[in-house]
Amino acid sequence: MINILDKNTVDKIAAGEVVERPASIVKEILENSIDAGSSLITVEIKNGGTDLIRITDNGCGIAASEVKKAFLRHATSKIISDKDLISIKSLGFRGEALSSIAAVSRCEMITKTKDELTGVRYCIEGGTEVEYEEIGAPDGTSIIIRDIFYNTPARRKFLKSASTEGAHISELVEKLAMSNTNIAFKFISNGQIKLQTNGSGNLKDIVYQLYGKEISKALCNVDYKKDGIKISGVVARPEVTRSSRNLENIFVNGRYVKDNIISKAIEDGFGDRLMQHQYPFCALKFELDGVDVNVHPRKMEVRFSDRNFVYDNTKEAVEEIFTAQSAIREVPIGK
Ligand code: ADP
Ligand code: MG
Repeated sequence: MINILDKNTVDKIAAGEVVERPASIVKEILENSIDAGSSLITVEIKNGGTDLIRITDNGCGIAASEVKKAFLRHATSKIISDKDLISIKSLGFRGEALSSIAAVSRCEMITKTKDELTGVRYCIEGGTEVEYEEIGAPDGTSIIIRDIFYNTPARRKFLKSASTEGAHISELVEKLAMSNTNIAFKFISNGQIKLQTNGSGNLKDIVYQLYGKEISKALCNVDYKKDGIKISGVVARPEVTRSSRNLENIFVNGRYVKDNIISKAIEDGFGDRLMQHQYPFCALKFELDGVDVNVHPRKMEVRFSDRNFVYDNTKEAVEEIFTAQSAIREVPIGK
């Protein structure tokens, strides 16, 4: 017999693609806060996010009449049809996050728009509404997620230790802080402030905070613009390298991504200034059209319509650092 699955089952299955671990929940909610135009975002977690995640923003909020709708599958205010997919400027667009998160946790949202006098508090557990009330609230949105995977014990078992899950969240907040220097982030884990940025737009400040003096002292600015592409940020001179690509922070149209073409181009831009199997530090933002972000639900990969164009320009942007007039003191390899 062929069965048509009910909504709850469908949502739980879909949730598996979006919500892998606490960090994926934090990523989705933070992306919503960023898309909402927030300038201040606070992330609080307890026990690596497995017991509690609370994210508060001062963004546009959700109108009372739309709050329930936001939790439906494929509910999004960010695109209307597939035609919008090629010109996406927002981080979200699938309309799957809130429904997926609510399907596998106990979720409470308090939200208020600037135009409305009161806000809404909405609680939804395992995909089922448990409370809806109008209440006074500041402008913006705050979401609390408790008991991740409480109703999918098989998945709960796959969670790693609180410290491992917490480390994933911490890394994620760091990447988002680097790619959104105009937003003031505060990250609190088990009551302790782990990261606080001021939203001043200064990338070097954040790199200093996250990576310390050694890397900060070696930073060179990248400010590259050609027809159809803009590359900006910082790259560290080859005196600071690592044996993995961990320090290559690449942001494409506001998204943190892992991308082999860009990584390779950056490394080739260093040429023989890099020793074999050594990789540089960078925090580089790429702005260009022709990027397909619809490759994977978690959106860590992108596809370029013109890979060679991206490769060539990236390599050139890095090479320019080394040929610039203000010639940086070059440190010969091996010294
Ligand atoms: P998507 O981000 O792909 O649109 P989500 O399920 O993450 O889908 O969110 C659904 C909708 O809820 C969003 O399109 C947005 O309109 C609204 N929303 C979610 N979080 C926020 C927030 N923090 N501030 C304002 N609106 C939000
Ligand atoms: Mg979203």
